[in-house]
Amino acid sequence: MDSIIGIDLGTTNSAVAYLTDDGPTIIPNALGGRLTPSVVALDEGGRVLVGAAAKEYQVVRPDRCASLFKRWMGSDRTVTIGGKTFTPEDLSGLVLRSLKADAEAFFQRPVTRAVITVPAYFNDTQRKATIAAGRIAGLTVERILNEPTAAAIAYGFQGVDENKVILVFDLGGGTFDVSVVEQFDGTLEVRSSAGETALGGEDFTRALAARVLESVGLPFERAEATLPLVVARVLQQCERAKCQLSREESTTVRVPGADGELAGGKEVAVGREQLQKWIAPILGRIETPIRRVLADARLTREKIDEVILVGGATRMPLVVRRVRELFGKEPHGRLNPDEVVALGAAVQAGLVQRNAAVNDLVVTDVSPFTLGVEVSKEYGQEIQNGFFDPIIDRNTVIPVSRVKSYSTMQPNQTTISIKVYQGESRKTQENLLLGEFDVTGIPPGPKGQEVAIRFTYDLNGVIEVEATIVATKKTVSHVIARHAKGLSEAAIRKAVRDMEKLKTHPRDEEKNHYLLSRAERLYKELAAAPRRHLGALIDGFEAALESREPDAIGRHREALEYFVAEFDADNDDPTGNSYE
Ligand code: AMP
Repeated sequence: MDSIIGIDLGTTNSAVAYLTDDGPTIIPNALGGRLTPSVVALDEGGRVLVGAAAKEYQVVRPDRCASLFKRWMGSDRTVTIGGKTFTPEDLSGLVLRSLKADAEAFFQRPVTRAVITVPAYFNDTQRKATIAAGRIAGLTVERILNEPTAAAIAYGFQGVDENKVILVFDLGGGTFDVSVVEQFDGTLEVRSSAGETALGGEDFTRALAARVLESVGLPFERAEATLPLVVARVLQQCERAKCQLSREESTTVRVPGADGELAGGKEVAVGREQLQKWIAPILGRIETPIRRVLADARLTREKIDEVILVGGATRMPLVVRRVRELFGKEPHGRLNPDEVVALGAAVQAGLVQRNAAVNDLVVTDVSPFTLGVEVSKEYGQEIQNGFFDPIIDRNTVIPVSRVKSYSTMQPNQTTISIKVYQGESRKTQENLLLGEFDVTGIPPGPKGQEVAIRFTYDLNGVIEVEATIVATKKTVSHVIARHAKGLSEAAIRKAVRDMEKLKTHPRDEEKNHYLLSRAERLYKELAAAPRRHLGALIDGFEAALESREPDAIGRHREALEYFVAEFDADNDDPTGNSYE
């Protein structure tokens, strides 16, 4: 039987892992890296680049690159790069396709099945979008798993017999999730989850970039509209500076000139203290989900035995300090916060596959939202619309199926419209509409004819709704798919065909493309003298690639690698990707 892989499809970085007898293990990508940046580029030859090469290319050709698209999964937004338009599902599909290729190269056989993680707070539409992205990549998505649950599984995989309550604090590039997990007798039980789909390290980078640009007289929004190259370069510099400030007290950010060239730009000094002051208001947004997750688990902060940190942004000292203050204990970071979600996904893949290594493990999860329908209420003679009536309460253990009866409000009413919502507000207006459908054929008669509505929430967090007219036993089933947002079945099939047509570079050339992208970016950064030398080296390497002469390629590559390693030394790459 082929292996099921576990994939962390992240906002900033993605990773793929599988379960061995000794536990979950990360599968390296073509560059030997353990993390693959979730960046997609279309190069000038119309070929797709994914990962570290695309991330480097983004600095010099932002118009040909897309990143952070996970934030738009399941929405109607599209991204045009290199003159071609992509949905967020297409772009995620290309990242998944690249991870699938890494796994296939590793196992030396086809891989077609995967467990993919999503933020716990992803809604039905976003989860379906992730399943669609899997299909676009040629993967059958065996399970959608919540990221904090995956992290808890990775930690709980060993030592699951200990009884304790864990809080998983997951602050990634674009999302914040928090879950309370109870561990007892070989069981990991998620008690509650909460979060925010638009809060993460990228917000800190942008906040820093805004201050830096402001300090040279450029308001961020105006610069974004008029000087995209400058903004792309400043964001890259700020991302680096932000990570550096997790280790050091101060650093500098170079703001390029209007042409995007660093050589003619200015240097701005930033300190850790300053950065912390700027991001503190954004970080304050973690508190509401934390309060809620504890209230839903019916626990106080003191009852948390262990806090686990997940996500790259938890490397920031300020984040660690806030967590320590909030829970009065030192948070745990035994496993690499960038890898722990993929490792947990691999264990879940083992559970799906009934792998003997995880025989004794039981994992249960919850639905992070309340799900229900819109109802009208009768106040005397008056009927008021737009009320939300919950059918499945948030933090109910999944899978779950609940039924509730509703009645017609008019005599001879033969149709009722069912509008399915997700959210916590009393009014549907403030909740998210997931889908709607009509139940027709109710026999004419007095008002009060009953229709039973059943909601089923499966292990992936995907919902199915069924309505039965009680008098006739006629049932209407509805998988919520015909929503304005999200892809229809036909659209997914078309996306699969379209993305298949897009070519990537042969795998053994990926290192060359990464080296070239990095060299091009460095070229823009260097002063005149070394850049002339670098230019000659790039020309030589490109000519060697054209010639297809292995000896010439090797020689020129070595010279270019040597130069790049020398001049780009402070640009340490947390993904571990390398062209060496
Ligand atoms: P993830 O989505 O978990 O891959 O997290 C990515 C986010 O973590 C990005 O916003 C990174 O900038 C951020 N990040 C990674 N390493 C560090 C670091 N050393 N200090 C601060 N932020 C970091």
